[in-house]
Amino acid sequence: MDPTPLRILIHGASGRMGQALLRLAAESPEAWQVVAAVTRRAPAQRVVEGVPFFAAGELGGVPEFDVAIDFSLPEGFDPVLALCVARGRGLVSGTTGLEATQRAALEAAAGAIPLLWASNFSVGVAVLHELVERAARALPGWDCDIVESHHVHKKDAPSGTALTLGEAAGRGGAQPRYASLRAGDIVGEHLVQFAGQGERVELVHRATSRDIFARGALQAASRLAGRAPGLYTMRGLLFEEG
Ligand code: NAD
Repeated sequence: MDPTPLRILIHGASGRMGQALLRLAAESPEAWQVVAAVTRRAPAQRVVEGVPFFAAGELGGVPEFDVAIDFSLPEGFDPVLALCVARGRGLVSGTTGLEATQRAALEAAAGAIPLLWASNFSVGVAVLHELVERAARALPGWDCDIVESHHVHKKDAPSGTALTLGEAAGRGGAQPRYASLRAGDIVGEHLVQFAGQGERVELVHRATSRDIFARGALQAASRLAGRAPGLYTMRGLLFEEG
């Protein structure tokens, strides 16, 4: 491994995902150095365990970084994308609920910087996408329903993962419907159900820890750094390109 740690900016650092990213990065200082942690409002403490914190409005003044990791909210996405383009640095984003115009801006920015946006950074969900597409192809005419459950603080619905699972089902010929539950502290559950006459197939993924998403995003950042501009995928970065 490269002896120099990757310099990362964490955007959305005070959130549930941001906190997991900070903790996991701190556990492997040889791999990742957080040079800036950005939150919506100015933080009370400017430096926490050696990590400098910045408010969203101070984004232009953050130090040099190699890759930004963004788990914020749609309203925070445009400025961090613009920062990465201005600095010529890569962006890994897991922020869901983006508007169509934001998705278009993301695709346009991929002409200038290496970019990865993923609705879900877990290995299990990457496999679930493949299973769903196969099941949809093998079960033409069956009803396809995607039920997702998350904690009560989650803002967007259906979840970004439900929508990309729906795209996978669509590639297999199904026409999925969606249902969303918001309850307690559920980290994330996705059920894809195929129902025929007298039988059902259920494919389920349950996340019990946010660390799976944070670890996937950190690994993706390491793989993305220094690459040519383009829109990369989790599967491509983690499984196919070594
Ligand atoms: P959260 O509400 O706990 O945290 C949001 C963070 O974003 C906070 O640090 C907040 O200060 C920051 N923020 C909000 N508005 C901002 C702005 N305008 N500028 C800069 N920062 C801003 O949310 P969370 O549970 O950590 O989730 C964050 C995002 O990641 C959500 O979109 C969620 O759906 C998504 N998510 C994705 C995955 C995945 O694997 N892709 C997994 C979990 C969550």
